[in-house]
Amino acid sequence: MKDRIDEIVSSLTDEEKVSLLQGKDFWNINGIERLNIPSMMVSDGPHGVRKQEGEADHIGLNDSVPSVCYPTLSALSNSWDRDLLERIGKALAKECISHDVGMLLGPGINHKRSPLCGRNFEYFSEDPVLTGKLAASYVKGIQSNGVAACLKHYAVNSQETYRMNTDSIIDERTLFEIYLKAFEIVVKEADPAAVMTAYNLVNGTYCSENEYLMEDIMRKRFGFNGLFVTDWGAISNVVKSFQSGLDLEMPGMCRGTEELVLEAIEKGTLSREKLDACVKRIITLLLNKQDPKPYSVDAHLQLAREGAEKSAVLLKNDNILPLKKGGKTAIIGKMAKQPRYQGSGSSKVNPIELDSIVDCWEGQYLYADGYEDNGQTNVFLIEEAKKAASQADTVIVVAGLPEFYEAEGFDRSHMNLPEGHNQLIHALTLVHSRVVVVLQTGSPVTMPWIHEVQSVLLMNLGGCKSGEATVRLLQGDVNPSGRLSQTFPVKLEDTPCFNLYPAVNKKALYKESIYTGYRYYTGAQKEVLFPFGYGLSYTQFEYKDLKIIRGQNSFLVIVKLKNIGKYAGREVVQCYIGAKDPLTFRAERELKHFKIVELKPGESAEVHFEVNLHDFERYSTKLHEYIREEGMYTVEIGKDVSTIVLSQTIHIQGIEPFKEDYDPVYDDPKNIDSITDEQFYSLFDTKPISKEKTEFTRDDSVRDIADTKPVFKVLMPVVSKLAASYTKGDEETETQAKMTILDMPVRTYGIAGHLTKEGIEGLVDIFNGHWIKGIKRMKKNIHKDV
Ligand code: BGC
Repeated sequence: MKDRIDEIVSSLTDEEKVSLLQGKDFWNINGIERLNIPSMMVSDGPHGVRKQEGEADHIGLNDSVPSVCYPTLSALSNSWDRDLLERIGKALAKECISHDVGMLLGPGINHKRSPLCGRNFEYFSEDPVLTGKLAASYVKGIQSNGVAACLKHYAVNSQETYRMNTDSIIDERTLFEIYLKAFEIVVKEADPAAVMTAYNLVNGTYCSENEYLMEDIMRKRFGFNGLFVTDWGAISNVVKSFQSGLDLEMPGMCRGTEELVLEAIEKGTLSREKLDACVKRIITLLLNKQDPKPYSVDAHLQLAREGAEKSAVLLKNDNILPLKKGGKTAIIGKMAKQPRYQGSGSSKVNPIELDSIVDCWEGQYLYADGYEDNGQTNVFLIEEAKKAASQADTVIVVAGLPEFYEAEGFDRSHMNLPEGHNQLIHALTLVHSRVVVVLQTGSPVTMPWIHEVQSVLLMNLGGCKSGEATVRLLQGDVNPSGRLSQTFPVKLEDTPCFNLYPAVNKKALYKESIYTGYRYYTGAQKEVLFPFGYGLSYTQFEYKDLKIIRGQNSFLVIVKLKNIGKYAGREVVQCYIGAKDPLTFRAERELKHFKIVELKPGESAEVHFEVNLHDFERYSTKLHEYIREEGMYTVEIGKDVSTIVLSQTIHIQGIEPFKEDYDPVYDDPKNIDSITDEQFYSLFDTKPISKEKTEFTRDDSVRDIADTKPVFKVLMPVVSKLAASYTKGDEETETQAKMTILDMPVRTYGIAGHLTKEGIEGLVDIFNGHWIKGIKRMKKNIHKDV
């Protein structure tokens, strides 16, 4: 294979090589027809195949071919089930093959910094080990069937607000321990074929031209062998990007850019060595293309249902669930008929089949809408709901976040359910004493009624079979076993980056450092609604006899587990490690291993974890590497991060402990909501330099321009009109389209071919007040033929 690729590369002209560095169109990578190397189609991901055959777009506005919609990754991560993730990965690959798609654009493995991120439903967890291990299984599944997986969005891409040009300012230790860790795990365990570079900048440099991120870290340190592809339009300086490690620009170069690349090759600013390396990686990918084969839709739908069942988390249960068969039930809430089952944006799948709770309910039920599609309710709807409730033994209220609450392109501004949903739940608890809430959300929500209801079942965004899954869980055909992969805080103000998120000044300062998610809540002793790792079951498990056996370079941690309840069930056994009295600040405990055990009533099992010496490390900013310090460490077994059931302290050998250079404010996580810039920069070896801006550039968006120069505010209604025309009157996606267009840097106007490179520069001239020059340049460079 290697010889064949070398031979192909040596036979290509420079023009052919450059053609391979860019998309053929919105969804295809160029091939070389002359040599019978076919082009390859790529499709979003991550929780289903979104193959667009008609009009193309990258925010999920236009239709795609029907395919199975699996639970979103935020849901599947609550299963903690590597085997399930691998099987879903395999199924996705079979669907890709059947649709002649060679690369699936997923999984998204960004760290969940704030519960507000509009795209959290596409990501896994607030813990990098959980994310990394689950994503590695997903990627292995996809790739074992010969389809390429593409990890995204590399790196530190945690907010949708100004997503295309915000600079993530982050210290080296936090970068490695938190934001890159999942990428490291997947690269080392699953060898992904591709990684997508994010829109944002990291410490002053765009991800697509960030040599440190691509070459130094990914390729050299983590051993990444695949190719780097841009997110759609995520490229600023094309030549610099290829020189810095990028391989492929999607969806394609703006007219006039190819010449620039060819010129750079000629002049040597883009080395031939780099060029050939990119081309080799792309050809390797293209030659791996599979021939289309059909898949079994039924088997995949069953897998989607299994995924939804295993991802559901029972958050509260005052002896109501499982429901006794034959009882009278009132099902209330429109989402019981029109489920919220997936997220909105580029991941949006056109489901081949879609069920709902009422479609699948076994037995008789009364139904009431309870609220409007927009989440509001009124006296009439509430009275109707109360009437249905009064005739039933148990009330199931289905509530959740409507699509326009969480989507790609913008962040949530609060963590609440729609007011009407909360009002409805509260009203029903006043008239009934058996109220079960079923939640359909992609992110944590507040629950002002938590002490008033009897049970809460979190169904997440459970995919196209979540109706059947919900019914089977409520009626006891399946015992819930999901565990939260993300903390549910009591309120937004309690979240670690509350004051910092989302950044609106184009600089996202990651001041909370490693104190993110449970690392903050446990350290700062913040009360939470439900902790990381939490979830109930219809049965109970007893933990005992923690044993730690020392090996040469690892430890065997053994714990005994027994099902002491009445139902067969699955328990997720969690192993955490913490350093005792460290000199340099650390999280109180960190998840290192987890295992799922299935036990029948009365059955016991021994659970084994192999803990290795890396599990005790931290990253040193001084030494620029992971280090293990000598000292005492706790090995803990938890039902969740706050419910540690067994624990032992052990001595670990290592280097002499030392204190890094940083402001002591970081020694107490309680301080993190008031960190000054100076204290934050004390974490840095070298402070990132921000370029002072005097003029607009191709990287600014209409929103940036209108924000700074009021005269350009006239563009805002134009954008709204444009968004409305794309969404064809669909109000729910209009905001999303509007935000996306507003935030698109001017340079991306070349993607669809409307403007050439020169035309874009002309537009920038106009924004900078050089009207005549700009208009002249633009006139020659607008293409009406596209
Ligand atoms: C998203 C990516 C997606 C791409 C193609 C971008 O806007 O950020 O996640 O894969 O579009 O649809």
